Amino acid sequence: MFACSDPSNPNKAKRHSIILVPKETRGITIKRSLSVFGYDDAPQGHCEVLFNDVRVPTSNVILGEGRGFEVMQGRMGPGRLHHCMRAVGCAERGYEYMIARVHQRTAQGKLLADQGVIQDWIAKSRIEIDSARLVVCNAADMLDRGDAKSAMVELAICKIMVPNVALAVLDRAMQAHGGGGLCQDFPLAKTWAYLRTTRLADGPDEAHAAQLARIENKKHPELIAMIARQEKTVEDLKRKYGVVDRAKL
Ligand SMILES: Cc1cc2nc3c(=O)[nH]c(=O)nc-3n(C[C@H](O)[C@H](O)[C@H](O)COP(=O)(O)OP(=O)(O)OC[C@H]3O[C@@H](n4cnc5c(N)ncnc54)[C@H](O)[C@@H]3O)c2cc1C
Repeated sequence: MFACSDPSNPNKAKRHSIILVPKETRGITIKRSLSVFGYDDAPQGHCEVLFNDVRVPTSNVILGEGRGFEVMQGRMGPGRLHHCMRAVGCAERGYEYMIARVHQRTAQGKLLADQGVIQDWIAKSRIEIDSARLVVCNAADMLDRGDAKSAMVELAICKIMVPNVALAVLDRAMQAHGGGGLCQDFPLAKTWAYLRTTRLADGPDEAHAAQLARIENKKHPELIAMIARQEKTVEDLKRKYGVVDRAKL
């Protein structure tokens, strides 16, 4: 359980704790199960849980009081990367189903594989999956060389890009399967539903994008200075070689 244990701490990053709470503990009520796009997501599932005067020993606090974000930060980098690795695998599987399917169906007397639009889907999907795989490898490499903090940008890029790519590939694969692609006869619809959750689980895309933009925005003093240096170099070179701007002629 992730809980706000010290709401008035001036350091926002130290207000939360992670506490182990066995589900049999008195005061816990599992109110109902929640479906994901209609699937029950068993065996782990997702539930609405009520906590009422629940008490556990202080030794159940992981790492120590107020260190919840520290625990999350350490765990979530590799966790997010793992989700992305699985997303690449899901995309590859959807792609394989798409290729197989378009060689088994015809439309207007022509194999789907020979239709221009389908060829475009195949090419796009191959490009996107391979790009996503490289983005994952890059983030994994950064994580290996440092830690979750030093790989923050690469992890955010990965977390935003990879599920979206995998969803696009799965969407094309479902479309190539026609109505069958949306039912239980193929693993596509369920895989799409799983992938869609990864745009929310471990934080929504928008929160990662905002964090990524915050980090990138910090580069502005350096970039402004660099552009000024480049402009000065251009002016110096123009003066040196007597180049006159066309607009000034
Ligand atoms: C199937 C499923 C599995 C999950 N598994 C996990 C898990 O394993 N671990 C875990 O930690 N969480 C998990 N979650 C929870 C998930 O992290 C939250 O649903 C998610 O962080 C969004 O929080 P919220 O649902 O409270 O929505 P809200 O906080 O109300 O956000 C709603 C929307 O507001 C926007 N928004 C929110 N914050 C920002 C921001 N900072 N900047 C810009 N826009 C923003 C986004 O569009 C967001 O989707 C899971 C969720 C689902 C649906």
